[in-house]
Amino acid sequence: MIDEGATYMLSPHEERWRNERLARVMKWQAAMPYKSFIDDRQIQALLEDNTQPETKETLAVIEKARANTPKGIMLAPRDVAVLANTKDPELWEALFETADWIKQKVYGNRIVLFAPLYVSSPCVNNCAYCGFRHGNRSIRTRTLSMDEIEQEIKALVDVGHKRLIVVYGEHPSSDYRYMCKSIQKVYATRNGTGEIRRVNINAAPLFTDEYEEVHSVGIGTYQVFQETYHYDTYRRVHPSNTLKGQYLWRLFGLHRALEGGIDDVAIGVLFGLYDWRYELLGLLCHAMSLEKEFGIGPHTISYPRMVSALSTPLTTTSPYLVNNKNFAKIVAIVRLMCPYTGSILTARETPPLRREIIRKGGVSQMDAGTRIAVGGYAEMKREHIPEKEQFQITDTRSLDDFIYDLCENGYLPSFCTAGYREGRTGANFMPLAKHATVKNFCIANGILTFKEYLLDYASPKTREIGTTVIIPTYLRWLNEHVPVLASRVRKHLKDEEENQRDLHF
Ligand code: SAM
Ligand code: SF4
Repeated sequence: MIDEGATYMLSPHEERWRNERLARVMKWQAAMPYKSFIDDRQIQALLEDNTQPETKETLAVIEKARANTPKGIMLAPRDVAVLANTKDPELWEALFETADWIKQKVYGNRIVLFAPLYVSSPCVNNCAYCGFRHGNRSIRTRTLSMDEIEQEIKALVDVGHKRLIVVYGEHPSSDYRYMCKSIQKVYATRNGTGEIRRVNINAAPLFTDEYEEVHSVGIGTYQVFQETYHYDTYRRVHPSNTLKGQYLWRLFGLHRALEGGIDDVAIGVLFGLYDWRYELLGLLCHAMSLEKEFGIGPHTISYPRMVSALSTPLTTTSPYLVNNKNFAKIVAIVRLMCPYTGSILTARETPPLRREIIRKGGVSQMDAGTRIAVGGYAEMKREHIPEKEQFQITDTRSLDDFIYDLCENGYLPSFCTAGYREGRTGANFMPLAKHATVKNFCIANGILTFKEYLLDYASPKTREIGTTVIIPTYLRWLNEHVPVLASRVRKHLKDEEENQRDLHF
């Protein structure tokens, strides 16, 4: 439980802002046009009725996931309950193999790379697991000025980044107007040929008219993690007098985003707050509701695992902390249940585990060269600045070391942002991903963006392996499968050598 008393003292300005907003949120909840898609009793019953699935049942679900892939169909809730309760290690190997197979089928063997950019940490909420919660006096919180954002972007593009997830606390200093200004600043900042080409957002849910404003400055995906779908746990970790304490407001945050014109939305759970099996079913119900209401499933699913945060005891004492074995299962089940959805594995996890889970879980996107302190990229050499961080990450490798590792393991590192800029978003993207034809674009654009990286930013060893092994391997694949596209890529590769940039399909 959280201390809602003396440690949670807002300034009069913060309190006024929070209270006004809370009143509007309550009004929205009272007139909400949706009915909750989380049926607690049904989820618990599904898990209890399938505690000991027979081998043939698990195999049938695995087969179904394979058959679903080219059709872009999700598994049913009962299927997920069966997988989550499967215990036989041999069946788990079959599940991991299938996760990798699905990923190869839909996206190919590429990993899209991005950096999270924390621009603000002040927050009027008091989430029990978060270092930035208002009541935590161990953290020095701050909101970056536009000049400071420019410094961060220069540091990021100087090492080769092209895609960001910009992260905000919920606070008057970082409301939707600040979001719009900061995103415009990101897009406007350049250093030589370095630039950010896609900005995604992770922030508190907004009102529809606010989403419209944020959409107008050209954001990619809007991420809101429900944290936990379990009502009682949600109440326990989010005080009721906070904005975040409003479960239904958050549950339908992405429905409002789609109403407000945002093209792509992304869901997630903070694993470690409640039973991971329950949370997987929650994610699936969320994806199904988005499909039902808007015909568009989530663009990505995230499964951040709760890690330690300064002066935040729940992060080490929660009875639901997830071990590595179960974490691998979570990632693989996500891949099987929503075959067309991007799957994001973050630097919260250690390098060896990330290496293992990319394949076992069919991961498609990862952050790299990550610094999560507010203002942390301007001080890139410092791996941690604990008093400025929301929690502690464990993969602090540089972008180049990360990319070299991917190459050694045969992956194509990609900075592709073409889908969004070529209009392959939302309803236009889904059929391509669902029918597994997006892969041809993924590989072609992956090759072109990786080549840019090799020309402009790579260390000698990364340039060597990239040029002699990775690019030729994926060009061969393209040649065999889509020869017309392969010859256009070869032409663009030459153009890139003559200093043309941002060529894409
Ligand atoms: N303030 C916004 C909100 O709550 O929606 C933005 C989110 S927060 C800055 C980004 C995400 O970090 C949260 O949604 C949560 O899932 C995750 N997070 C918070 N505390 C964490 C911890 N101790 N370990 C791992 N992830 C954590
Ligand atoms: Fe604020 Fe988000 Fe942290 Fe909660 S998780 S305290 S809303 S920054």
